[in-house]
Amino acid sequence: MIKLILSTIAYAKVGAQESVDLHIDQALVGDLELIQLQGNLQLTRVAEGVSIHGELDTQVKTECARCLTPFFQPVTIELEDIISLPGAELTEERPVRVNKDGWADLTPLVREYAWLGLPVNPICSPDCKGICPECGGNRNTGECTCVETVTIDPRWEALRDLMSDSDQA
Ligand SMILES: [Zn+2]
Ligand SMILES: [Zn+2]
Repeated sequence: MIKLILSTIAYAKVGAQESVDLHIDQALVGDLELIQLQGNLQLTRVAEGVSIHGELDTQVKTECARCLTPFFQPVTIELEDIISLPGAELTEERPVRVNKDGWADLTPLVREYAWLGLPVNPICSPDCKGICPECGGNRNTGECTCVETVTIDPRWEALRDLMSDSDQA
């Protein structure tokens, strides 16, 4: 649960503003596991509810597209939404409302934005060597012990000959 206390702003006059620092070590948002969710949110009381705006940094657990190992992908969430007032009907567009105790659970919003922020092909590290097509082993962890046969392009052979010739000259 990503709990945001809105007990003051929800009952304030339209135009009232508040700034909130969010810091959550770990959160399970639907099927996504997030860690280190943090950032600053600007809250503004608007006619329809409380508008929230801000940037949150987090790391989302995903799987490397190359080596299939789970890892945490850094994701920046640009939150820009409106939280409905207590008693308002929940809709697909407005899936979050302030409950009668004065707080809201941001889980549906954060989940949606976190998905949007995830790359289509997340890579655990720029130099991830991936899975060996021969044995299926992870090349990063030494699971694959296949000997790579390096074939030298004949054009490079010619160049090498040229270079060694000039060395001798
Ligand atoms: Zn990888
Ligand atoms: Zn291999």
